Amino acid sequence: MKPYLKRAWAEVSLEKLKGNVSVIKKLNSPGTEIMAVVKADAYGHGDEHIVRCLADECGIKYFAVSNLDEAIAVRNFCPDVQILILGYTPPEYAHEIAMYNIIQGVVSTEYALALAKNSPQPIRCHIKIDTGMGRIGLKHDSPKACADEICDMINNIKNISVEGIYTHFAVADSDSPDNISYTDRQEKFILDTYDELVSRGIKLPHVHFMNSAATCYRNNSRSTLSRAGIILYGLHPDISLPIPEGLEPIMELKAVISHVKTVHKGDCISYGRTFTADRDMRIATVTIGYADGYSRLLSSKGEILVHGKRCRIVGRVCMDQLMMDVSDVPEAASGDIVTMIGSEGGDSITADELASMYGTIGYEVVCGISKRVPRIYI
Ligand SMILES: *Cc1c(COP(=O)(O)O)cnc(C)c1O
Repeated sequence: MKPYLKRAWAEVSLEKLKGNVSVIKKLNSPGTEIMAVVKADAYGHGDEHIVRCLADECGIKYFAVSNLDEAIAVRNFCPDVQILILGYTPPEYAHEIAMYNIIQGVVSTEYALALAKNSPQPIRCHIKIDTGMGRIGLKHDSPKACADEICDMINNIKNISVEGIYTHFAVADSDSPDNISYTDRQEKFILDTYDELVSRGIKLPHVHFMNSAATCYRNNSRSTLSRAGIILYGLHPDISLPIPEGLEPIMELKAVISHVKTVHKGDCISYGRTFTADRDMRIATVTIGYADGYSRLLSSKGEILVHGKRCRIVGRVCMDQLMMDVSDVPEAASGDIVTMIGSEGGDSITADELASMYGTIGYEVVCGISKRVPRIYI
């Protein structure tokens, strides 16, 4: 373990990551490979260690990222893996896509033409189909019409090499009948498009549509890849649905008590005087704040584990510090390590739970842990 400043830090367990990968491998059919989604610095967990562990120790061969910078980073860690850029790359960088042997998600004929024009070498691509997410991709009323456009791209744009088609689900993390049939229709559209291409003599190596939620709740052996993101990190696609047994959060977020004091009835805590003590209380100050990604929306709401007991934040979360009520934890003292995300003494606060305290999702919590917070790998 490298020395690091014990102020606010995140501990990432690569053992738990490996455990999650084995759970996901068991969920998938033998013909489906994991495409590890490591965009946004591996959902805030740190792409270098995560990617190296996935590639070198778990045998993962496919990675997905959001942009060219992330793709080049993964390429530098792993010369041999397949890397798909899910998001936009400005066409003027097309030559770099080719140079680094990266696969670009292509969202329209116009975009394919622009990429082709800007690269001396062929650009590998997977064509994105918008089957209901409404974000990016070819949009058609029928799989036949969709296949027409794909055929035209393959036949007319010589400088792209189409290796697959894919789509993204909007509500695979919901168990309402309406949403399930919505996802059924999305899935049918992409598979019918693929089959239509096959019937025209085009058999692409890849068709993929599973994200984490689909991987957990509606695994389909026809998806050649499962684009697993959030479940790699052990969090829920949606807090209301349980995730398969064995998936565990891999990150804990910790900080230190810097100061403990007794306040009296009428004393105020933090900016804005939003909290006034209604009795004598023990208040501890903690070395983490919104500049670390611990949201200010957790002011007077968030809970922190101190010696295994939950303590409530009092007053506003500051940039680098916050205060909490440790009246029920008499042993709390300056220098003690406390847990914002993680387990202590039988209790645990997950990123998903923290997210629900202020109306967001675990994804945003882990992605939001800022650069200033060192990631420690254990
Ligand atoms: C982010 C993303 C994923 C991964 O989503 P999770 O819910 O984290 O599994 C998969 N596919 C696409 C296109 C994405 O943008």
